[in-house]
Amino acid sequence: MSFGTLRNYVGGKWVSSKSTQFLDVRNPATDEVLAQVPLSTKQEVNEAVSEAKKAFTEWREVPPVVRARYFFNLRNLLEEHFEDISRLLVQENGKTLAEARGSMRRAVEMVEVSAGIPSLMMGHNLEDIAPGIDCVAVRQPLGVFACITPFNFPAMVPLWFLPFAVACGNTFVVKPSEQTPLCQKRIFELMHDVGFPPGVVNMVNGAKDAVNALLENKDVIGVSFVGSSPVARYVYETAGKRGKRVQALGGAKNFLVVMPDADLDSTVAALIDSCFGCAGERCLAGSVLVAVGDVYDKLKAKFLEAAKKVVVGYGLDEGTTMGPVISRKHKEKVLGYIASGVRDGAGLLLDGRNVKVNGYPNGYFVGPTVFENVEPSMPIAKEEIFGPVVSLMRVASLEEALELISQNEFGNATSIFTQSGGAAREFAYRVGISMIGINIGIAAPMAFFTFGGAKGSFFGDLKAHGRDSVEFFTDKRVIISRWF
Ligand code: NAD
Repeated sequence: MSFGTLRNYVGGKWVSSKSTQFLDVRNPATDEVLAQVPLSTKQEVNEAVSEAKKAFTEWREVPPVVRARYFFNLRNLLEEHFEDISRLLVQENGKTLAEARGSMRRAVEMVEVSAGIPSLMMGHNLEDIAPGIDCVAVRQPLGVFACITPFNFPAMVPLWFLPFAVACGNTFVVKPSEQTPLCQKRIFELMHDVGFPPGVVNMVNGAKDAVNALLENKDVIGVSFVGSSPVARYVYETAGKRGKRVQALGGAKNFLVVMPDADLDSTVAALIDSCFGCAGERCLAGSVLVAVGDVYDKLKAKFLEAAKKVVVGYGLDEGTTMGPVISRKHKEKVLGYIASGVRDGAGLLLDGRNVKVNGYPNGYFVGPTVFENVEPSMPIAKEEIFGPVVSLMRVASLEEALELISQNEFGNATSIFTQSGGAAREFAYRVGISMIGINIGIAAPMAFFTFGGAKGSFFGDLKAHGRDSVEFFTDKRVIISRWF
């Protein structure tokens, strides 16, 4: 199925890009070309921002309760089209259908929570801050916000931002991943059907140049970025220098700690999902398994046995439990990490390099891969691989596990598996990572909590969705009044 040449959505209309540069969007399981995505020009980005700016004055005057109704309607349309968008997500991204549905559920929840904006956006007040003088703090929207998003959750991640920003009374521009732009195309068709006033929601396809155009445009008040850490840092610094609000969520290297008292069967099930779910292409994916004390041998045996049962294939086919990685280029990068682990002397217990999937000779598949005897200094132990490659490490104590985690530059997510409340508390208290699982392999905060990491995984202060979102997308204005 071909979607042809994709268009941008600007000022309430679908418009063809005038760019001369296009990229193929491919199905990673089949290598089939699904669409051509334009790399929009600076001028096209500026037009979208200008439409958003024009729409802001009237949109901010729409009562919050009415703004919320647009999101009730969007939520209903997303439910109606839940299955077709989930299937499209499999085609452009390579997830299994169950994973695609899971991320769509999270996307819908963002819209549901944003529909609570009349309560979420309330300010506070105090009578008689001095005799006869009252003070009211209100939250006001600021203007045009934009988001720049990664390939790995193409339906959900833009909805971490747009619904909250727009429900707060701002207008918005989405720059989806050029590798996976199709779910946003579909979601913007639904937003068109909802009937947002022209210019309130806009989408411009593109890559680096479109990002730079957003960062340079003085009418963009704030930017939400999700992607790899080097680009997150660049966006944070560039947007910050220009006085914009910015929240930039970066990459990850997540350590999962298994204590000797962990319930091994349920722990291993959670570890497998964390490490191999979405082919390891989650910012919350487990990447290093840290066995504490004598649990190592038992954990290794059970983990390997379960890893061998992972069924690699096309996400739309029954029985597939792990799909391909996103692109041929990314597959080469993952294979490069496996080769580096071998070169560095790690023990390759399970090698996913030569996996073959019947019927899909051109897919970008990598099978589950497991190393042991991994040193903390090896690239496989410290860098983000973003593929189904796991390092098993052994430490003597929780203290050593905490030390190992503290040495890593990233700080997105981590988990501990234990039956001891004391160990779990100690871990959560001291680990210094933002998203923490206790007997949970993927510590994903839901729409009503905030999402974002620490250290090299996050640049900014206010994080995605939850309460931070309303803080990020509004300014607090304080009105002090006296009546003579
Ligand atoms: P990426 O950094 O390559 O791209 C992200 C976005 O930035 C895309 O829209 C892309 O067009 C743009 N971009 C890429 N290079 C750029 C450049 N040089 N200048 C300006 N813009 C540029 O990331 P990706 O490969 O699409 O996504 C995977 C990464 O995203 C992983 O590192 C993953 O950990 C991270 N991620 C993080 C979170 C989180 O919550 N922290 C969530 C999802 C994904």
